[in-house]
Amino acid sequence: MEDLVERLSRLYSFRKDTPTIWQEALGKHKIRTEQWEDITFLRLDKPVHSLERGTILSEEGIINGYPRIRRIINLANGIRRNLPAAFYVEEKVDGYNVRVAQVGGKVVALSRGGYVCPFTTDRLDDLLDYGPFFRGNPDLVLCCEVAGPESPYNTESPPYIKEDVRLFVFDMMRKGGQVLLPEERYRLVKRYGLPSVRVYGSFLPDDAEEVLDIAREMDREGLEGMVLKPQKEGRYLKYTVPSSHINDIRATAILVKDMPCGFYLKRILMLGFALEELEVGGDRERARLLGDVFTGSIKDAQELVLSGKEIAEHFQVRFRKRENMTRFFSLFKKAPVDVRITGEQTLDGYIRVRFERIYRRTTAFISSSLGGATFVD
Ligand code: ATP
Repeated sequence: MEDLVERLSRLYSFRKDTPTIWQEALGKHKIRTEQWEDITFLRLDKPVHSLERGTILSEEGIINGYPRIRRIINLANGIRRNLPAAFYVEEKVDGYNVRVAQVGGKVVALSRGGYVCPFTTDRLDDLLDYGPFFRGNPDLVLCCEVAGPESPYNTESPPYIKEDVRLFVFDMMRKGGQVLLPEERYRLVKRYGLPSVRVYGSFLPDDAEEVLDIAREMDREGLEGMVLKPQKEGRYLKYTVPSSHINDIRATAILVKDMPCGFYLKRILMLGFALEELEVGGDRERARLLGDVFTGSIKDAQELVLSGKEIAEHFQVRFRKRENMTRFFSLFKKAPVDVRITGEQTLDGYIRVRFERIYRRTTAFISSSLGGATFVD
């Protein structure tokens, strides 16, 4: 049998020292073998050299992990400093990231970490007509955001999605290669009638004031923000608007002990910068809202725990196939949260399942604090 280092080196070679890099990565357990139905592939659990976490390797080539996007928190100066030439402004849709690609002859949706997402893969036929696209372009990967009130991973949803979930293509990558330039993607999206993120147009660095107006409009509409993409070469930038920071805090304030320490501080900072720059008004009102969101959530948490309930997030999702639903729930076995199915109903060919993610740490903290426990601070 072919040695794994040889196989990896055949599937992908770095500029130099290829076998050594793969050997070391294997030694550090950065590479995992994954199976989905009859497909097997290799997944990078951690970055390896220049390859992102979530990259997958199979006989059909390499599907790179979706690159990280740098954030700016002062929009006008962020544009002036980082974008020397024309760029596009796109909506940053608030959902979860999947790469849709052909692997082992099957079209699957891969999560950021490189797992096949059982939910998205189950619903792919409802979300986009991918057949003609992959017949014509088997070497391309669709980078998409899935969002909606019935998302299994997000408790927030863009306000214009009223039910279920929708998928939006925001990039395309060539297997083993680069992300396509926006214009090439716009052309392919149009040609194959794919669902896309909204594009607000093309701008120059001197148009910062117009981009600020778009950010204000996004804030009014309750959207998350924007991604700025150079027309030619260059790095993307992301920027999020005040309402999205408050919504993020509102959605998570009740989980306070389960959130990473910096989560709220980062959002408060971004909120402060954005309110000042966009001059969207209502500063006082938002400051009060922010306080209410925190104190109100802690109050709600105490009430829940006192009534014998646990701190949880609630979801409702639709599956087509039961086997995918089983696969989806088995993913949580490795996660630090507990998941409990609270209801199930079959309607119009879908299994509609309700479930909760239970946050044990926050529940235990609220409960022991109410019970008079002491802390060293
Ligand atoms: P990072 O990109 O730094 O890993 P993250 O995983 O926390 O950050 P976000 O801060 O939400 O993610 O921002 C980047 C993500 O935004 C992308 O990975 C993608 O899933 C999502 N996104 C939504 N709309 C777009 C868009 N139009 N262009 C690019 N990415 C978009």
